[in-house]
Amino acid sequence: MYNLGNYPLMIIPSSLPPLVPSLLQARACATRPPARGSVDRRMPSSFRLLTAPCAALARRARRVEPADLHNIGPLLQAMRRCLLATKGEGVAAPQLGTLLRLFMMPASKPGDVHVVVNPAILRASRALTTDWEGCLSVPGYTGLVTRPRSVRVAYETLQGVRKEKHLTGFAARCFQHELDHLDGRLYTERVKKGSLVDVSDEETRQPVSVARQEGLAIVEVDMR
Ligand SMILES: [Zn+2]
Repeated sequence: MYNLGNYPLMIIPSSLPPLVPSLLQARACATRPPARGSVDRRMPSSFRLLTAPCAALARRARRVEPADLHNIGPLLQAMRRCLLATKGEGVAAPQLGTLLRLFMMPASKPGDVHVVVNPAILRASRALTTDWEGCLSVPGYTGLVTRPRSVRVAYETLQGVRKEKHLTGFAARCFQHELDHLDGRLYTERVKKGSLVDVSDEETRQPVSVARQEGLAIVEVDMR
């Protein structure tokens, strides 16, 4: 997720239909096929940031088991490089083609990151808030998304320690955005109708037409 805090906050009604389905049209993209039979715990030697439309971004990731932690190092390094290189506010393992329930967010100290394993939302506030979101996997676009204002969350650390936290504001939004990735959902499924904007050129920010949405091409950024 990108930090888009400099965009104006708008309050939008909470009843939002599913939107921009064309961004999720399944198309072939470079990722490992799901293992059949036994779980395949091998990690690829290099990772690419996947962008929509891409079938792998619409798949549900599986839980991280202790056995996964033995060879998860290259994935964590790639996710950290991705976060730092893009100045992102979060990146989830499926965005790098690995269907594990794991995401990473920057810590307050520059260069440090939080690794969030097997996350869950325990409680979400009835109060909703709407703000702009962007995503590394939908580059050049932003849109308004309504989400619970605060959430009680649980997750594990890489050492297997269970944590619970109460998150509000931007942290709550980021956690929900990244958790959506683990369930195969992009923010473009939740975006307020007509609010998706092309921000690839800041001076000519343009609302995105349906035809343009459908023409979004597969772009892959090599993170080696
Ligand atoms: Zn994202």
